[in-house]
Amino acid sequence: MTREEIATALGDRPNAKLRSKQIAGHLYQRAILDFQEMRDLPQELRDDLDAHFLPEPLQVATHRKSTDGVEKLLVHNGDNQVYECVLLPYDDRVSCCISSQVGCPMGCKFCATGLGGFDRNLTAGEIVGQYLLLQSLSERRISHVVFMGMGEPLLNLKNLLKALTLLHDEVGLSYRHLTVSTVGIVPQIYELAEAQLPIHLALSLHSPLDEVRNRLMPVNHKWPVKEVMQAMRDYFKATGRKITIEYLLIKGLTDTPEQAIALAELVKGVPCVVNLIPFNWVDTEQGFARPERERVRSFRGALDNRGVNTTERVERGHDIAAACGQLAGQHLGKFGRRAGVSPLTVQP
Ligand code: SAH
Ligand code: SF4
Repeated sequence: MTREEIATALGDRPNAKLRSKQIAGHLYQRAILDFQEMRDLPQELRDDLDAHFLPEPLQVATHRKSTDGVEKLLVHNGDNQVYECVLLPYDDRVSCCISSQVGCPMGCKFCATGLGGFDRNLTAGEIVGQYLLLQSLSERRISHVVFMGMGEPLLNLKNLLKALTLLHDEVGLSYRHLTVSTVGIVPQIYELAEAQLPIHLALSLHSPLDEVRNRLMPVNHKWPVKEVMQAMRDYFKATGRKITIEYLLIKGLTDTPEQAIALAELVKGVPCVVNLIPFNWVDTEQGFARPERERVRSFRGALDNRGVNTTERVERGHDIAAACGQLAGQHLGKFGRRAGVSPLTVQP
């Protein structure tokens, strides 16, 4: 809820406007998730709030801490529909990675979440609730949020937009520090551009070639490389925000010299950064493997030589299965399929 919505929910309780401001301040700016700890509220109101509202919908099923400072939580709302969020401390900032859905209907072949199937969309409260839960664990302020946990954020656009607005207006984060990663749902990329929030959009491209991308990501049959890149170019034109191209390096499949050249050609003239992500091992039918350092270096070198800006994702939280969907996969027992796949699943 925004503070206006909190004021409305307080109804005819005394000083609703002032109280809503105090509650929003505690909840969103200080991540105080217990009404009894909101000490400038009258005791009577704290008890009343306890009886009628839930400040934090999430419960923790698993909490793992990595030796590199990464913390990964598996959360739920009292049922067995678990989803993941990760705290990522760096020297210069603290970031977090959160989920937009329970599972994911997109079925990417390399992704533990995709292999596990789909349950449902998360509400805006459950999305922001992940941030607040992680903030309540961190002494340092979490300034950055990436939507790279479970789910495809653009399939849950309404709740995503509300969550982005809450993170900006109430929590006080800069839109520029919010990154939404998408598999490339073209109509929703245009809808997001229309919302005119200066957030950062990242496209999971993973191959410049349709024949390779088709094998990895069923979505490519519906919106192939050319179309999705045009949507990203238009997104840049509409928002002025430089885009990120995420590129998964799977040994012998996406990390070939031909694809480095084709990728450089594809992004020519597009203001973007290519983020290289060596495959995090997931037990796939196809036996996908992570390329050795040398192969990653030469792929990156080929892009550098052609003037493409690149970064490389450093794997963190390795000892706690922090990569996309891995922990939930373990929880369900090796990618136990979820019931019900959304009609939005794009089939070849
Ligand atoms: N659904 C969105 C966001 C969540 S996935 C999307 O696909 O963009 C976040 C990122 O993790 C995506 O770039 C995805 O391709 C990547 N990813 C999924 N499985 C992975 C794996 N096994 N190793 C490395 N990256 C992976
Ligand atoms: Fe869904 Fe993203 Fe995983 Fe694909 S990579 S299955 S879109 S979470």
